[in-house]
Amino acid sequence: MSEPAPAAPARGGEGPGHVGGSRPAVNEPVLTARGLERSFRQGGLDVDVLKGADLVVEAGEAVALVGASGSGKSTLLHCLGGLDLPDRGEVAIAGRPIAAIGERERGRVRNEVLGFVYQFHHLLPEFTALENVAMPLLIRGEGVRKAEREARAMLDKVSLGPRASHKPAELSGGERQRTAIARALVTQPRCVLADEPTGNLDRHTADAVFELMRSLNRELGTSIVVATHDLSLSGRMDRTLRILEGRLVPA
Ligand code: ADP
Ligand code: MG
Repeated sequence: MSEPAPAAPARGGEGPGHVGGSRPAVNEPVLTARGLERSFRQGGLDVDVLKGADLVVEAGEAVALVGASGSGKSTLLHCLGGLDLPDRGEVAIAGRPIAAIGERERGRVRNEVLGFVYQFHHLLPEFTALENVAMPLLIRGEGVRKAEREARAMLDKVSLGPRASHKPAELSGGERQRTAIARALVTQPRCVLADEPTGNLDRHTADAVFELMRSLNRELGTSIVVATHDLSLSGRMDRTLRILEGRLVPA
């Protein structure tokens, strides 16, 4: 990068353990993965799932990850999100190599930089949509009123304001996924990792959920890495990568 950085404090002055309020250094990639290898032992056999996967996700980029069922999409997302550690290779979240930092610090980086959306929304059934969306902010230590204000604003963004006081069982599949997206975005993460977030939805609703993720990506500049096996959905992202024999290739 030849552009001079704005008058920001020198990175060296931030001290260890600082994630920079989760705001980036100039155009730093949000995620970097190099040479990821991951095997699982199944029935006495080692199954090599990732065999040298490389990926760089730039700030604001929307990336689709496709591949047959069992090709390693979830495994890769878990490694990218620091939920699993690769056997070999390196993952850096916001420039921080996650193997080099401890479990607690890894959790903190994850909470500050990333949001997750899963195929099965994982909303807490006994809490309202508003409470579910506010949860990551409460976990982060914010006060209830501020957390609920921000959660309400995010529910409005996903057009669920009128459903704020409903519990997951009272919402449709699409509304639950939109709530899960609001929960992933409420902390204003730099990147959202979504694992087949529309795998359970009908075509029309899946379309709407992808459109929503895409518009939030444009509006908020949030990077997205979304695993899907639906090529008509992946085509809406900036680029699509396929997991093929444990590596990532352009699709
Ligand atoms: P995808 O998400 O593309 O369907 P996964 O990443 O879930 O694929 O799985 C890739 C392969 O790794 C599959 O064969 C799966 O059974 C295996 N696998 C994934 N996680 C584990 C695990 N924790 N233990 C054993 N095998 C696993
Ligand atoms: Mg999967």
